Amino acid sequence: KLENLTKIFTDKRGNETLAVDALNVVIPPGQLVSLLGPSGCGKSTTLYMIAGLLRPSDGKIYFGDNDVTRVSPDKRGIGLVFQNYALYPHMTVRQNILFPLENMNIQREEALKLALEMAELVGISDQLDKKPAELSGGQQQRVAIARALVKKPDVLLLDEPLSNLDARLRLQMREEIKRIQRETGITTIFVTHDQEEAMSISDLMIVLDFGKEQQMDSPQQIYYNP
Ligand code: ADP
Ligand code: ADP
Repeated sequence: KLENLTKIFTDKRGNETLAVDALNVVIPPGQLVSLLGPSGCGKSTTLYMIAGLLRPSDGKIYFGDNDVTRVSPDKRGIGLVFQNYALYPHMTVRQNILFPLENMNIQREEALKLALEMAELVGISDQLDKKPAELSGGQQQRVAIARALVKKPDVLLLDEPLSNLDARLRLQMREEIKRIQRETGITTIFVTHDQEEAMSISDLMIVLDFGKEQQMDSPQQIYYNP
């Protein structure tokens, strides 16, 4: 639940940009929700505040009944996937997926089991010894999703995860993200500027414009009442 969530950026000269303007949204658990709107409307800023990577200027963020507004990113129970995957290039696929488990109190064997489980979930378990550069864009995105899910977070955040893929892979990965979300039942927020993509992938769409919520409805409702 986002309550009056607001972000104002202030530059060195003191000029202010109201990036997110008092957003009030309740996202039902277990749904795949897209955050849709044109470039600059505040999608990434909203996502990064939910992730804990940007501090809100005002307002609150709740996961269930927990106010997580001041909780650090690693303790929030989120998995984050960036537009450019942000994999560690010098590490293998296995090491990339294992990375979030390091410094946690988990036995090596248990960690490897979890990593393999995630690799199987996203369909990458035959590529574990490769480096990211040896993989296609779609495969790299699968690894990024496995890495985001390995700590079994409550919320999966995807920032334009398909925009660097070619048209064919984009359609294929759309279906894969839907399948992974259905299989895990994880509450998922999917940022995109592509209306058709949002329509096809989500249970619920939040349409943003100038940092404000314009509409929040199912794709069917939005299609018939744009
Ligand atoms: P979107 O993800 O929808 O493209 P953003 O959330 O990236 O939009 O940006 C929303 C607005 O906030 C834009 O006007 C953008 O220029 C501004 N903005 C985003 N990040 C910063 C920042 N770090 N400093 C200053 N302004 C920013
Ligand atoms: P995209 O629209 O592709 O999502 P963004 O607009 O979100 O890209 O910008 C990517 C990065 O640049 C983000 O970290 C964002 O905070 C930062 N950023 C965006 N606009 C500005 C700005 N006007 N000043 C400083 N940083 C910005």
